[in-house]
Amino acid sequence: MHACKYVAGHSAYIFCLTMITEIIKGGGIERAAQIIKAGGVVAFPTETVYGLGANAFDERAVAEIYRAKGRPQDNPLICHIASVEEVSEVAAEVPDLFFSLAGKFMPGPLTVVLKKGNKIPYAVTAGMDSVAVRMPDNPTARALIKACGCPLAAPSANASKHVSPTTAMHVYDDLNGRIPLILDGGECRVGIESTVLSLVTPVPTILRPGAVTEEMLSEVLGEVKTHTGRIIAAAPAPGMKYKHYAPRCRAVLAQDAKDALNLYRSAESEGLKPVFISAGRMPEFDGLNVINMGRDEEAAARIYAALRDAEKAYDYIIVQKLDGGGVEKSVMNRIFKATANEE
Ligand code: AMP
Ligand code: MG
Repeated sequence: MHACKYVAGHSAYIFCLTMITEIIKGGGIERAAQIIKAGGVVAFPTETVYGLGANAFDERAVAEIYRAKGRPQDNPLICHIASVEEVSEVAAEVPDLFFSLAGKFMPGPLTVVLKKGNKIPYAVTAGMDSVAVRMPDNPTARALIKACGCPLAAPSANASKHVSPTTAMHVYDDLNGRIPLILDGGECRVGIESTVLSLVTPVPTILRPGAVTEEMLSEVLGEVKTHTGRIIAAAPAPGMKYKHYAPRCRAVLAQDAKDALNLYRSAESEGLKPVFISAGRMPEFDGLNVINMGRDEEAAARIYAALRDAEKAYDYIIVQKLDGGGVEKSVMNRIFKATANEE
């Protein structure tokens, strides 16, 4: 459905086509599948973050994802499947290693890059001969893929370059008026995007860290590398060069609570309204503006909501550095990008 809106403050009437965005909590699978089968896009929950899905076989539907998000065309999408066997629908020459990984980590927050199958248009892979595949473990996501009868190409359901969404309201805040439907499945359990592992490189290589860590993968793979190059200079996938996860106000990294307090006080002296996203309770900050993201899995689940809450109420965000291993390293990857202050 479309509506015309009068944009105030302009000398002439400006009419813009605005879509009504519906949110359905519990159910809505059939309605969502109808939209997707007709070539549209729908936002849906996964255990990592909310995705914006379209029929992965339909080039025009996939173009709609890029339009709705304002996503650069050279940033490839992940294909979501509902069962391991469906990998043959999207990829060609699937190696045994994929099935070993699937046995241990699928469904779950692991994306595997394989050789692209013929049915997947280049619009999904940003022109590359490889394709990224994931089987989510969220029941709504799986039911939706099944009801559509096709794999869903889906990036995170945020406006391009903004922080990823972990609730239906986050999606609404970014894409209201740009997509027809959001399936509300509550808060995402994991909270950061999937680990992306390439099996098309000579040695299996982690392109993006996530909840499935290098240590966990090496148990199955033996040798595994983590891509450590500078995001722009040495990106093995075009999408990796883009800055993601950026809040809409200045965000900086603090080494510890003392450093954070210094940054907080100097921001205040400049007339800014600071907030500290801390890793646990920090007594030094009693009475000041603090959002506690916690640590480990809790930090992963909370970091994006913390950044979004912070940018709404404050204008200077200080994030505490996490120094642990495992999933904290993956959360730090997102925090580095959020606080990089570069294009
Ligand atoms: P998003 O779902 O928004 O987090 O974006 C998907 C990300 O998956 C991209 O930005 C890439 O980093 C990665 N990706 C998708 N397809 C490929 C591919 N064929 N090769 C390497 N990385 C990929
Ligand atoms: Mg994204």
